[in-house]
Amino acid sequence: MKQTIKDLLQVVVQDQEVTVKGWVKNRRGSKNVAFVSMNDGSCANNIQIVVDFNNIPEETFKNITVGACLCVKGQLKKSEGQGQDREVVAESVEIYGLANDKYPFQPKFHSLEFIRDNAHLRSRTATFSSIFRIRHALAYAVHKYYNDNGFYYVHTPIITASDAEGAGEMFRVTTLDLHKLPKTETGEIDFKEDFFGRATNLTVSGQLEGELMAMGLGKIYTFGPTFRAENSNTTRHLAEFWMIEPEMAFYELEDNMDLAEDFVKYVIRYALDNCKEDLDILEKRLIEEEKNKKQEEKSPMNLIDKLKFVVENNFERITYTEAIDILLNSNYHKKKKFQYEVKWGVDLQSEHERYLVEKHFEKPVILTNYPKDIKSFYMKQNDDGKTVRAMDVLFPGIGEIIGGSQREENYEKLETRMKQMGVPTDELWWYLDTRRFGTAPHSGFGLGFERLVQFVTGMGNIRDVIPFPRFPKGAEF
Ligand code: ATP
Ligand code: MN
Repeated sequence: MKQTIKDLLQVVVQDQEVTVKGWVKNRRGSKNVAFVSMNDGSCANNIQIVVDFNNIPEETFKNITVGACLCVKGQLKKSEGQGQDREVVAESVEIYGLANDKYPFQPKFHSLEFIRDNAHLRSRTATFSSIFRIRHALAYAVHKYYNDNGFYYVHTPIITASDAEGAGEMFRVTTLDLHKLPKTETGEIDFKEDFFGRATNLTVSGQLEGELMAMGLGKIYTFGPTFRAENSNTTRHLAEFWMIEPEMAFYELEDNMDLAEDFVKYVIRYALDNCKEDLDILEKRLIEEEKNKKQEEKSPMNLIDKLKFVVENNFERITYTEAIDILLNSNYHKKKKFQYEVKWGVDLQSEHERYLVEKHFEKPVILTNYPKDIKSFYMKQNDDGKTVRAMDVLFPGIGEIIGGSQREENYEKLETRMKQMGVPTDELWWYLDTRRFGTAPHSGFGLGFERLVQFVTGMGNIRDVIPFPRFPKGAEF
């Protein structure tokens, strides 16, 4: 295989002939020699190229600006200079593509907003190439974890006819002519004429199909794109995001919590062990950012310490009811610092979740046994008639990172709940079949992959951890 800059930064230096292909990150020149930093994306560090004007015409060098792409042949030699132990002394320079001073990422400070506006080129910046390498490593760790633990990776459909999951607003998928919609006798749109002969949408979750697969394969997981058409312009919501959804036969709520905790710790540890360079770059960036923050907004820990802390400590496990009591007794509540009301039965807002995690426990929290009226129809009902066996995992800086539950396996209870909540039992006949034939206790959860990447990279805005974010009024690149 061709050598990358990562390889060249690791091999033993013995004046060997090497070829370096990559983009110019920086260049400085003196009278007789110039130094060019190059990067090819294989790792965070650049390699230094020495251009001696006795070998390479100064004219050639003049045109080479930041952003240009080159193929350099030369000798890999020990470097006497500061900041690197090796360099490539160029013998020939081939120009693949020149850039010019319009190239947006000149070697100076750029705000994240500016970089986001140039998202089509941002994989070339140090910050974003680090983020996307970490994203890759986390995705790999997800597959490795489940594979090593006997789970099967299943692919659930992206186009779905059930809009009954209740997880969020959906995007319609249609081939109907929007100017000439076919109508039924009663004047409604006639989806029988549509491609699938029924109304279809992009999926908000692979869970229901995941449950079907778990009822034959035992332990499965999905890892694919999901879509929500909710108009939430927040730093934690995307219209298109990736979700990991394990679903396990014979797992009860406690097993589900154990799995969720073990799993997130594993993937975070994987990043700590395998992405040191990239994490260092992001940590340095965050330390710079913190300098501009007010004292009370400063985070108490640096990025890498925060990740280690999560891996090394048990998550706090409490019930929703206990959480409400903590919130009601908090100084925050007494001083009326919460914007949204706190009382038993309300859905917790992110300000409440973050209070519990960041102020009260100062570590991740798993909340269980939520009121049934704020949770989905498929969650297993507790004997108290009021709560369901739900579990949400809350993370510092993020809020909800995982939502899951033990599933209701009893046919009658499930059907009754669906009718109460207006979920069409006839459309979901196939889902109910799992409870008709050999039903089993089972559990699962959904982890929002981008929220995990946000936590590990320390990025404040979810739009910065997916290469091409989709959000309300945003689908440019
Ligand atoms: P939230 O309350 O934060 O909007 P949710 O309760 O609607 O999330 P679930 O339906 O439980 O989310 O989805 C499971 C997981 O998917 C969440 O825990 C979260 O990590 C992630 N997630 C949900 N909605 C989004 C979104 N719009 N963008 C990115 N990730 C999301
Ligand atoms: Mn949720």
